[in-house]
Amino acid sequence: TITVLGSINLDLLVRCQALPAPGQTVAGESLTEVSGGKGANQAVAAARCGAAVRMIGCVGDDGFGDQLRQNLSSEGIDCGAVTTVPHCESGVAIVQLEASGENAIIVVPGANGRLTPDHAEQAAELIRGSDALMLQLESPLPTVAAAARLARQAGVKVILDPAPVPRQLPVELHQVDLLCPNETEASALTGLKLSSIEDAERIARKLHEQGAANVCITLGPRGTLLFDGQQAQLLPSIRVDALDTTAAGDAFAGALAVRWAESGCLEDSVRFANVAGALAASRLGAQPSLARREEIDAALVG
Ligand code: ADP
Repeated sequence: TITVLGSINLDLLVRCQALPAPGQTVAGESLTEVSGGKGANQAVAAARCGAAVRMIGCVGDDGFGDQLRQNLSSEGIDCGAVTTVPHCESGVAIVQLEASGENAIIVVPGANGRLTPDHAEQAAELIRGSDALMLQLESPLPTVAAAARLARQAGVKVILDPAPVPRQLPVELHQVDLLCPNETEASALTGLKLSSIEDAERIARKLHEQGAANVCITLGPRGTLLFDGQQAQLLPSIRVDALDTTAAGDAFAGALAVRWAESGCLEDSVRFANVAGALAASRLGAQPSLARREEIDAALVG
């Protein structure tokens, strides 16, 4: 069982030729509503990889909330620990997407900002009974830290996707079983620049020194740099035509958690997760782009 604590959003996806510069107005090509939020995306990614998944999070009482909850349930995700916050709007993300696949995103946290350490505490039994707890940083830091503590005390693996990077990541959130930042996040967390594989390795070692038992730095089309505390290795991704990299990192994290919980082998899990990330990058949208296990297995062999 995988438990995910995190954000649940409605994504409003706008496509355009080129992202507008500040002050500029450009014509959009389409508007699409899709379920998103890093937490929910990772939960769906894990569920589509075949795991039993439970979600801890908050939605608003604005109509979007029911839609978002319904969406998670339709993926087979247990929403018993998803709270509807009265008099509160649901989280919304405005995703601007240009033809090259590059994006710019504004996230309004809404109900996600109301997920408290008490909510984590109330879900303590769920967390303790899991194989892994997945965390991201679109929820209040004290809540994320409380959940990490509950998991750690019970010997449950904690996987943190440190996005978005806060000004100061609490020390206890560095001390996770697996930290999986992308390039920008890895650089922000260490204050080191990342422009080569050697830089990535240096940063991974530093993140390990800062407390992470294992570190995966996702490098987009180049794949993932894995450092397991002993050895660093670049595990290449598969080749795809990138259409929309939204949720590539979430697809990666969800697949990684499921496979790691099953096999206990990180190298094997990263190879599997790279394919999940690549498939997500090759398709439009957040959750619609998340692959099922059969597709990942097929692409891994092919
Ligand atoms: P994020 O979406 O968080 O920025 P990345 O872009 O690094 O994360 O993508 C996560 C993982 O997905 C990468 O490590 C890689 O395995 C895979 N991936 C992402 N983009 C591509 C791509 N264009 N081609 C192949 N694999 C990709």
